[in-house]
Amino acid sequence: MAIVHELSWSTSRARTFSGCRRRYYFDYYLSWLGWGSRADPERRQAYLLKKMTRLPMFAGDIVHRGIAEYFARRDQGLGWSAEEAIAWGTQELRRGYKESRDGGWKAKPAKSIRLAEHHYAEERISEETGAAGDYGRRYVERIAACFRTFFEAPALDGARTSDPGDWLACEDMSTFDLFDTKVFAVPDFAYLERTAEAEPPVRIIDWKTGAPSDADRFQLEVYAFYARERWGIPTERTTAADVYLQEGEISEVSVGDAELEDALSRIESSLGEMRAVHFDADRSKGDPGDFPMVPENEAARHCSSCNYRELCDRA
Ligand code: SF4
Repeated sequence: MAIVHELSWSTSRARTFSGCRRRYYFDYYLSWLGWGSRADPERRQAYLLKKMTRLPMFAGDIVHRGIAEYFARRDQGLGWSAEEAIAWGTQELRRGYKESRDGGWKAKPAKSIRLAEHHYAEERISEETGAAGDYGRRYVERIAACFRTFFEAPALDGARTSDPGDWLACEDMSTFDLFDTKVFAVPDFAYLERTAEAEPPVRIIDWKTGAPSDADRFQLEVYAFYARERWGIPTERTTAADVYLQEGEISEVSVGDAELEDALSRIESSLGEMRAVHFDADRSKGDPGDFPMVPENEAARHCSSCNYRELCDRA
């Protein structure tokens, strides 16, 4: 079945939309159809840039994959220790770093690691000055700290030892319909907590590998909304938490009916703004002028780490 371009919604899409409209255009419109090697050159360039990552994001992805691997092994009755996970994660980070540095990613951009730091020859990843060693070490340490929290924090015992039969979601991409639009939700982990109560409560967890941000709470509210829609779990039986693995901190988020109604109206308003500029990218590349770049005076904050700097001529 052919994939068609359509408007969808997710918290990450909404974040991009509110951060920089031009970036949103590159991510969700210009890069569309750019996956073929004979694609329109502009679409192809945007697609290749979209597929790049950065070391903090790559390290975060490794931690998420490692936790999913822990649960997959538990499902098969196999164990995995913190030391084994750290060794695997470190090796994975080094493998990706080398793959990015040595090039060749354009042949398989969807399956290869290409770091924007290498693409833009950023000083922080220079091997000549030795900066790359310090920069890489920061993320080796981050991966180790995150796995230590996951494997050792007493507050995560319930999640770690939960019965596979009680798992509702583990990094599963899923969608539900809202306001006639497909909404993407990927709860990191959700499970039924076994307690004395006849109806077990649902626990939703979002693993975080970076610093807390204002958007974290909203993301969990969307997952709680998803739990209500998908599994029919009332909010009074749902608890949700952001787990900041690097710091070893857990932030409980209230997901009562009032919070979910508020989240719903924020989704509706965000969708309305997106719909106002939406066009069919199967038919045209649209008008970039409808998607303004962030102003020059905000470039340092938004552009310095953006994948699309070469398209915007921003350093
Ligand atoms: S380089 Fe700056 S203006 Fe261009 S897409 Fe990225 S954030 Fe937006």
